[in-house]
Amino acid sequence: MQFNRTHDIEDLNSNMKGQEVILGGWIEDFRKLGKMTFLTVRDVTGIAQVIVKEDASKELEGLTRQSVIRVKGTIQETKARDFDYEVKAEKIDILAKAVHPLPIDPIGRLESNIDNRLNARALDMRNQKTASIFKLRHHVLASIRKTLSEKKFIEINTPKLIGSASEGGANLFSLEYFGKEAYLAQSPQLYKEQMTIGLERVFEIASFYRAEKSHTGRHLSEFTSVDIEAAFMDYTDVMDVLESLVLEVYQYTSKNCKKEQQAIGTEIKIPSLPFERITYAQVLEELKEHGEKLEFGDDLLDSHLRMVGKKHRGFYFIMDWPMKLKPFYIHEKDDDPKLSRSFDLQYGYLELSSGGTRLHDAKKLKSRLKEQGLDPSKFTHHLQAFDWGMPPHAGWGLGLERLMTTLIGVDNVREVVLYPRDPDRLTP
Ligand code: ATP
Ligand code: MN
Repeated sequence: MQFNRTHDIEDLNSNMKGQEVILGGWIEDFRKLGKMTFLTVRDVTGIAQVIVKEDASKELEGLTRQSVIRVKGTIQETKARDFDYEVKAEKIDILAKAVHPLPIDPIGRLESNIDNRLNARALDMRNQKTASIFKLRHHVLASIRKTLSEKKFIEINTPKLIGSASEGGANLFSLEYFGKEAYLAQSPQLYKEQMTIGLERVFEIASFYRAEKSHTGRHLSEFTSVDIEAAFMDYTDVMDVLESLVLEVYQYTSKNCKKEQQAIGTEIKIPSLPFERITYAQVLEELKEHGEKLEFGDDLLDSHLRMVGKKHRGFYFIMDWPMKLKPFYIHEKDDDPKLSRSFDLQYGYLELSSGGTRLHDAKKLKSRLKEQGLDPSKFTHHLQAFDWGMPPHAGWGLGLERLMTTLIGVDNVREVVLYPRDPDRLTP
């Protein structure tokens, strides 16, 4: 059967009275009233009421909710409160029957827990709240691409299969690669830095992999990272880029995703710029007031960041971290080599991004590698690029899922990933 769909449901309106249309969609609900059957049919764009008179309703025997139908009919006036028009069906074809009982109630009248929803993700996508989260995610990505392109960043794709542990061995998934050991990339760090030779400003949006046994609402084994790297920029320059990107994402989705916000039950609140910038040293002072005595060089634990996040709500930067807490490629500060030109972007207690100015001197890089117990001979391919005209550069990595949770006000990144991967979840 040829489908010949004439309209998406959102394109129909009460000015189209008498017009013949062909729709395709899923039955959300149906009711029999005497000789008439009232259906609500949903496609990805909206929902419509369809009236089926007895002569056309033989087709409806054994019909179930969430079955897929094709409706041929005409637009007419309606008495229904929730609709501006209805479709009087001339012909209904059932294209696929939904087999009941369904594992979850997709229209969300009965709440299902997240595990059951993730196990039936495709069906969960019929829930308008879930579908709207992923529509919103689409707009977030569109906005990121638009903003970075306008700032003259070029989108690249770096390999996800890598032959050596690029930032040390911890947290890497390994796999067999034609008789050799290979790994799944945990970040595009070394490649994106190299690409500043020639492309100057690059970005990548891709999945990366972390073999951490974390059971939190913010860690995934496979997550989406938004990365930038830029020649001739210092860390404060890339902080400016990050800040204006976050603002753009909020403005763009606030304006273009009205329906989605309504379905999710949230209102996107646009943050004001500039984001507060505090130093690691200031954070230690604030923690001291809470009776937490940390030494310079101690890492900030989740419990510490929760205290700091109570005072600094929303977005803020923590900058100038001790060198010893930062990876080998981070640049020291000129006036105090114990400190680094680095930052984290926070949302309350939640880390959204880490970044900094990078070393671009091969000698310094080599000695930093050794200091951190890494073997420079494993980095020959990377290090040689530093002899080919490596510009000074800076960049950051931003967790897309974490940013999404701030946008819609959920506290589990699994809500914004189709099929999340974590230590307990590898299927479906
Ligand atoms: P955390 O300390 O929260 O585990 P990290 O400092 O190890 O994060 P980075 O290497 O700085 O993470 O990665 C940059 C960004 O990528 C993080 O700020 C975060 O937003 C995101 N990210 C990192 N690891 C994960 C993960 N396992 N799941 C989801 N997002 C992640
Ligand atoms: Mn980090």
